[in-house]
Amino acid sequence: MAGAKFEPAYRRVVLKVSGEGLAPAGGVGLGADALRHVANEICSAHDLGVEVAVVVGGGNLVRGASFVRQCSIPEATAHQMGMLATVINALALQETLESMGASSRVLSAVHMHAVCEPYVRQDCLRHMEQGRVVVLAGGTGRPFVTTDSAAALAALELDADAVLKATQVEGVYTADPKVDPRAQFCARLTYDEVINQRLRVMDLSAVEMCQRKSVVIRVFNLHEPGNVKRILMGEDVGTVVGEAAE
Ligand code: UDP
Repeated sequence: MAGAKFEPAYRRVVLKVSGEGLAPAGGVGLGADALRHVANEICSAHDLGVEVAVVVGGGNLVRGASFVRQCSIPEATAHQMGMLATVINALALQETLESMGASSRVLSAVHMHAVCEPYVRQDCLRHMEQGRVVVLAGGTGRPFVTTDSAAALAALELDADAVLKATQVEGVYTADPKVDPRAQFCARLTYDEVINQRLRVMDLSAVEMCQRKSVVIRVFNLHEPGNVKRILMGEDVGTVVGEAAE
């Protein structure tokens, strides 16, 4: 209908970006081009009026479980280092967003008052309602889990409609497409299929959390410019994980 107001597919989303997504090719450290690309994708969602909470990983700097294998520090400390890595990434992303004109705040589950705001649910909701992108740092604030779980928890806590899980490939496959040429792409999956077949979408605990409140998971290729906007415009991009009829 002419003049009809466009309604995005989702009203509020949690975007999960791994540390690798913010790194140059090779996946280590931070890359200016990668930061600008991710910030652009976020701005496109923001421009549509969609409320966005971004959960950033830290694997480009430190992954607790692999770091602990290289040295003799307690594993809990290695995970804390991983959480601090997510704060570094969040600050870089927030400043990149600001430089592109998108008002943004970092809220961290690990309290670092001199650097960013502490995560408080009500503050986070208020920021989003006021048109700010929130970048959630520090994961869950506790060791031994990953930022996938933090993203699922954030979706439940913030009453988001979907988790947009940015990956390095088109979506979910029956096997790793980089290793197994017989790997098949899955356009649609139920939560139970993901859990029972142990498909590599997100941590299984994160998938279970999303299932609990029917939060849709959209797995997509971060490197394809415009994918976030396409998902929000209702296009079939990547893999959709949800209830059977989703
Ligand atoms: N981490 C943690 N608790 C959390 C989130 C993250 O201990 O709630 C640590 C964990 O060691 C993890 C690291 O932070 O490996 C970086 O996060 P993640 O592996 O999720 O980053 P990504 O792979 O998404 O870049």
